[in-house]
Amino acid sequence: MESPKPRLVSGVKPTGRIHVGNYFGAIRQFIAMQDDYEAFVFLPNLHALTENVLTKDELIEHTHNAVLDYLGAGLDPEKVIFFKQSDVPAHANLAWIFDCLVTVPYLMRAHAYKDAEAKGKEVTAGTFTYPVLMAADILLYDAAMVPVGADQKQHVEYARDIAQKFNFQYGELFSLPEPLIQETTGVVPGTDGRKMSKSYNNTIPLFGTDEEITKAVMSIVTDSRERNEEKNPDELVIYQIHQLFNDSEELKRQYAQGLGYGDAKKLLIQDIIAFVTPMRERRAHYEQNPKLVQQILVTGAMKANDIAMKKIFDVYEAVGLTQ
Ligand code: ADP
Repeated sequence: MESPKPRLVSGVKPTGRIHVGNYFGAIRQFIAMQDDYEAFVFLPNLHALTENVLTKDELIEHTHNAVLDYLGAGLDPEKVIFFKQSDVPAHANLAWIFDCLVTVPYLMRAHAYKDAEAKGKEVTAGTFTYPVLMAADILLYDAAMVPVGADQKQHVEYARDIAQKFNFQYGELFSLPEPLIQETTGVVPGTDGRKMSKSYNNTIPLFGTDEEITKAVMSIVTDSRERNEEKNPDELVIYQIHQLFNDSEELKRQYAQGLGYGDAKKLLIQDIIAFVTPMRERRAHYEQNPKLVQQILVTGAMKANDIAMKKIFDVYEAVGLTQ
């Protein structure tokens, strides 16, 4: 018999309009994991409340867009248990139990809290206990793996510490998750040659229209090399972007032999549009079928609740809340 796949849990934060840098730097690898793991992927809308900056409509819109972006980019709801965090009340229930285990000085060491403090922000209790809710997200499903960027390892360490503390006090109930540090695939440059980032206004939107993609590509910086002048393509910003969409030797040779920038941009526009068209169509399909999307999230929440309810019952039992 095939051995069960290791379990993975991850929250997918909406980051605004996703761009080519997000896709090649993070989302693509994330989606590839659905084949190797039993994946629980949730929209962390309870976490989104912590900073207390979004209006009701904004929160709804961000959550909705994140669902469409991930489904459009290839997250397969048949393979992944995909749900909204708020549809599974056990996340918040378990976080409360953990809140009563951890100390204030321990939480004061969390990066997110320290950063907010350093910036002189008024920190909500939600922001302060954020790592505890995150530990609940992970431990509720006995996740073996949690995919994180190298800078977020601390979150998984908090989950491990909290699991150990609980197990020591009430008996072995939680397994310890491991961080799955996502390989850095290198920085995708933006149209101005700096790192592509929404804060630099130098992005190519993944779900942009043909016009938006064309406009972004036309603005990619080029040097003043002469047409036909030989140059190492890997040094050219335009080729660094282009090879993400077309890594053929033929294209590289054309660049090496001095492909004119006007022609290169035309080709790049075609290659990007060919690449994103199926994703865009998939996203549009879901967008036009809100009932289908709702069905996916309800099914995901039912599956997640099934597992989470059992776990929270065991926890309540262990701490003395069931009788
Ligand atoms: P932005 O810089 O546009 O605000 P985010 O910080 O929201 O992007 O990034 C979301 C994810 O996308 C992160 O995992 C980040 O590592 C990845 N990412 C963002 N920009 C790039 C880029 N230019 N190259 C590679 N990965 C990127």
